[in-house]
Formats: sequence, C-alpha cells, structure tokens
Amino acid sequence: MKTFNLEEYIRDVKDFPKEGVLFKDITPLLNHPQASEQCLQELLDLIGDLKIDKVVGIESRGFFYGTLLAKELNAGFVPVRKPGKLPYNTNSETYDLEYGTDTLEIHKDAIKKGDKVLLHDDVLATGGTAKAVVNLIESLGGEIVQCNFLMIIGFLKGSEKLKDYNVASVLSY
Ligand code: 5GP
Repeated sequence: MKTFNLEEYIRDVKDFPKEGVLFKDITPLLNHPQASEQCLQELLDLIGDLKIDKVVGIESRGFFYGTLLAKELNAGFVPVRKPGKLPYNTNSETYDLEYGTDTLEIHKDAIKKGDKVLLHDDVLATGGTAKAVVNLIESLGGEIVQCNFLMIIGFLKGSEKLKDYNVASVLSY
C-alpha cells in the first residue's frame, strides 16, 4: 500500500551545486523511516523476481538504498567509487561531463563473469554516470539485469544512453 507520496519527501534546491541547477535532495526521504521503508519496497517491486547476484551502488547516494536492496535480495553489495578511494586493484572508466571529465572505479574481483547485476543509483540525469558504470560492470563480465533508480529526470534524456538495458525508477520528473 502506498501510504506516502514520496515526491513530498524530495526537496528541490535551487542553484546547487551550481547556478542554474535544480537539485533533487533525497535527505528528507532518508530522514523519514516509514516513507523510506515504502521507497525501499517500491524499489524492490521494480525488481520483482529477477535473480540478482550483486547490487552495484554508485558513490555516494547510490549506497543508501543500494546496501538495503542487497540485503533484501540476499545479494552482494559492490561500491563504485571516485578515484583513489578503493584500496585494492581496480578497473576505471572515464566519462565526459559538461566541462571536463570524471572517473569511477570498481574492484576487479567484485564481480565474476556471468554474475547477474543490479545497477542502482538515486538519480538518472544525463546518464553519463550510469553508462560509465555499465561499462565497468561489463568489463568484469557482469550481466546487467536492471538499471534501477529512485528517480529519473526525463528531460535530460539519460535513458537514451541506457536504451539497451532494463531501466526502472520509482519516480520520474
Ligand atoms: P548524470 O551522470 O546522469 O548526469 O548524473 C547522475 C549522477 O549525479 C548520480 O550519481 C546522482 O547522484 C547525481 N545527481 C545529478 N543530479 C542530481 C540531483 O538533482 N539530485 C541528486 N540527489 N543527485 C543528482
């Protein structure tokens, strides 16, 4: 049952992290245990009975529900992090931003060939981040069964970068 309108727990913050950006802040949702529990359930409903070996969460807001999903799915949790944060051997992927580039890393032994993987993050915006993580997962032989988000910001067209994958989200704007 959907007791809460989850959109009411997402705060719009103007001009963060820079002028002209309307940032979707999920901290009010995290702060409300019952709404947050409903959100977790709705994320699980998107997954249904797909079999998942590993949940890959993207630093840092993909860690919140990513670890909870992993526990519920009885799957391993794999953090994807910014450069220099993971202590062991990594694969890395660099992708384009509006100005410049960014890099993300994954531990080389975190995913085995043929593992069924759920990619999870809080927000799909332009899709650059998620596509880089898709490449990291596939570089290790993982099979992506769903790209799972709390919300998709539709006008930024991130889904187009993931058009070959099962993309699902609780909220869309
Ligand atoms: P993209 O690469 O799709 O443009 O951006 C997605 C990444 O940036 C995600 O890791 C997400 O956490 C972060 N992000 C971009 N815009 C927002 C936003 O409005 N709210 C939140 N919470 N994260 C955002």
